[in-house]
Parts: sequence; structure tokens; C-alpha cells
Amino acid sequence: MDADAIRAAFLEYMTEQGHVVIPRAPLIPRDDPTTLFTGSGMQPLLPYLLGADHPAGTRLADSQTCLRVQDIEEVGDNRHTTFFEMLGNWSLGDYFKDEQIRQFWTFLTERVGLDPDRIYVSCFIGDPTHGIPKDDESAAVWTRLFAEAGIAADQVEVDTEEHAASVGTGGARIAFYGKKNWWCRGGKAEEMPIGEPGGPDTEVFYLFPHIEHDPAYGTHCHQNCDCGRFIELGNSVFMEYRRTETGFEPLPRRNVDYGGGLARIAAAALNTSDVFRIGLLWPIVEQLEVLSGRSYDDETHAMRVIADHLRGATFLAVDGVRPGNKAQGYVMRRLIRRAVRYAFKLGLEENFFPQIIPTVAGIYDVHYPEVKQHADTVVAILAKEEQAFRRTLRKGLKQLGGYRRTGVTGAELFVLYDTFGFPVELSTEEARQRGITVSETWRAEFDEQMAAQRARSQQATSLHA
Ligand code: ATP
Ligand code: MG
Ligand code: MG
Ligand code: MG
Repeated sequence: MDADAIRAAFLEYMTEQGHVVIPRAPLIPRDDPTTLFTGSGMQPLLPYLLGADHPAGTRLADSQTCLRVQDIEEVGDNRHTTFFEMLGNWSLGDYFKDEQIRQFWTFLTERVGLDPDRIYVSCFIGDPTHGIPKDDESAAVWTRLFAEAGIAADQVEVDTEEHAASVGTGGARIAFYGKKNWWCRGGKAEEMPIGEPGGPDTEVFYLFPHIEHDPAYGTHCHQNCDCGRFIELGNSVFMEYRRTETGFEPLPRRNVDYGGGLARIAAAALNTSDVFRIGLLWPIVEQLEVLSGRSYDDETHAMRVIADHLRGATFLAVDGVRPGNKAQGYVMRRLIRRAVRYAFKLGLEENFFPQIIPTVAGIYDVHYPEVKQHADTVVAILAKEEQAFRRTLRKGLKQLGGYRRTGVTGAELFVLYDTFGFPVELSTEEARQRGITVSETWRAEFDEQMAAQRARSQQATSLHA
């Protein structure tokens, strides 16, 4: 099963379970000035999880397009992309732990056909300081489900000193963690305001037994180890507590919030730990191989970055963002310019975005027809930005290379930004890769130049007014 079939199967299964399928929210949150992008399926539904009534009822499901700039540096590994789709389902005061864990398990093992023996889970270890109990309830449901599949589910507390998860067996079936398995806004129980809801989270991982544990990530491999042997497929948050003056009390209306990575579930279904091998990304990679004459095996990192960033920039354009110097526009610009930079490494020195965008539109033809509808506009916007940056890229790189011996200051990075259009994150990254020292106070120096330039241009505007 590939991603399109899995998305369809999920929404169908959720419908059978009494859920109403709601449309995706745009990548730019409508009424939330606090975040630039929709980064999870839960984000647009937060008002309902906090108590408002949803017009579609108490059981909802969707596939939400997400953008996480915070993951930009992870792109290049086997499982993170800035743009991705999160499958989601919610119970607003309706079903709880038993039904949620069961339906996620059934979806993965029966509908998608994943091997139950490669599924590993995590639960909340408890927080005695705040009087929040260990989530034995979720663990008990998991234990029953594993037992039905003939699997003995051993438990381990990973947050304790001598956790016994061993490399050879892939670790204990049910691992208990602290902060990683606690959900509340802002993430920290101790910082929650009075009245704020929170709750335990149970996560599901898929094991790739042929991948050797990398000791660089610690002596033992376990569910949350970053060596790539386990991939997190999804998690269910159970909102069941409310902060009080003295600790926590049960919430009168308990909710479930589930989010799962479509690409990761699809990769698991294809028995690969590489999300770029799925139907939503592989056609872009193949095209990059043809255009550059290089192979994915040799240029994995660069091709992953380019494929992800161009797809992300395409969806941003479809959702109305335009490249610019601020907020969402700046992130879009960063994605585009970073893609151009990585393409340059592949020897792709001519404009090629216009050839990739129709491929993206083709991939999402059925499920997100808006991409194809806007394809011409998207090509025009992205190609213009590509061309502009390509023109100065070579000169900018040369200039940056000139700082090899002296190191580079924030003020010099500002010149690269101002003259050649190098987003400062791109030039610091580039400098790091080339072993050029970046001054420790570069951010302050850069901001100072930026503020001075703003002041100059404001002055110029008022002179002309
Ligand atoms: P990870 O620990 O792998 O970074 P996460 O815990 O940050 O994932 P969640 O916020 O729990 O992710 O999001 C729900 C699901 O969305 C994850 O279980 C994962 O399957 C998927 N997901 C999260 N971030 C990404 C990403 N950058 N690219 C692809 N899928 C992702
Ligand atoms: Mg993450
Ligand atoms: Mg995680
Ligand atoms: Mg998670």
C-alpha cells in the first residue's frame, strides 16, 4: 500500500468508526498570530479540544498538511520533511483510551497490514511531584492487543538509570518515558497555568531490525533512540487532567487527539525506513536523478533536501504565500534558496523548478487538485525566485569563501544577505560546512545592521512622502 491508498483507507476506516472527515486547514493559520504555520492536525482544532463545540460533532478525522520549519535541519535524514501530511482523529468528550488504542492498532495491522511483531510503543511514566499517575491504563490496553497477536509485551522504564532495552532484541515492547509522553500547551507540567488541560501520550514506533543500532546515539537502542532503527509512526494524546492550585484533577470532558505521519506509515508499509521512497516523494527524486545525471544513492542528502523544499514551497504558494523578507514569505524564500544551493551541489546550475512543479501537481492530482489548478502561478512565482537567486549565488559563494582565513562576522553576513540574497541561516550553514568560523555574536551584529537599514529606508520613505 502506498501513501494515497493509506490516506484513503484511514479516512474510510475513521468514517466506519463514526467520524466526520473534515477538510485540511491551510498551511497559514487563519486566526492564530502566534505561529507562522499549521504544524499539526491538532493545531486548527485546539479551540474544540479546549471546550468549544465542533459543528461536525464529537468524532472528527482528517489528513492535515503541515509545515515545520523547526525540522529544516533534520531534512536529509530518513524520516523528517518540512512539509508532511498528518493523519488525525479526535474524540471530543467521546471515546477514550481503549477505543483509540484499539482502532489505531487495527488500522495499522489490519488495514495497512503492518507486522504486529515490529510495533513497539511508549507510555507516560508518571509525575509524582505533581501527583500525575503512571499511564498503566494505556499500557494495559497495549498488553491485551499484543497478547491477542501472540506477543508478550514486556515493560521498561526508560527514564530510570538502568533501563534494560537491549540492542539485540530491539528493546522492551512497552517503554515508559517522562516529558516525551506528556502533552500540554508549552510542554512543561510545572509551567502550566491553573485550569490548563494536559494528559499522557502513547506513541507507536516501527522497528527496522536490519538497521544496526549506532552506539553514537547511546549504549542501548529503544523506541526514542535517534539511530533510525525505530521510526515513530504516530501518537495519541489523552487529555484527561486539569492543573489546579495544588496539583492536577480529572477533566470533566476528556478528549483524544491522534496524529500520525502519513509518509512514515507508507514507508513502513513499503518496508523501507526511508520516507523519500514513497509515492509522494519518489517521483521528484527520480526526476532529480534524470536532470542531474547523479544517483540518489550517491546524493541522498541533497536530493532529499531539494525534493522536500520544492514540494513545501509549492504548497505554500498554493496556499497564498509569496516569497518575501518577513514571516511566512521569508521561510518560503529560505526553502527555495536552500533548494537552489543544494541543486548547485548536484551540478544543476540551470533553472529546473519549472520541470519539478508539474511533477508535484501530478502526485497530488486526485487528493489536492488545487495544486494542479494553481500550477502555472506556482511555476511563475518559484521560477522567478529561482532565477533571481541563481544569478547571484556564484558571486555570493565566492565572497563567502573569501572569509576562510579571517572568519565571518554578522555584519559581513548582512552584506551577503543584502547584496546576494543569502538568507542568513543559509550562509551560516554554508560557513559551518566549509569550516569557516562564524563570530559568536553574529546574530546581534546581523540584527544591528538590519535595524540600521530599516531606519535608513524609513527615513528615505518619509523624505519622499
Ligand atoms: P519525531 O519525534 O519523529 O520528530 P514528533 O514527535 O515531533 O516526531 P509529532 O508532533 O508527534 O511528531 O507529530 C505526529 C506524527 O507526525 C509523528 O508521529 C510523525 O509520524 C509525523 N511527523 C512529525 N514530524 C514529521 C516530519 N518532520 N516529517 C514527517 N513526518 C513527521
Ligand atoms: Mg519532531
Ligand atoms: Mg517524537
Ligand atoms: Mg510525537
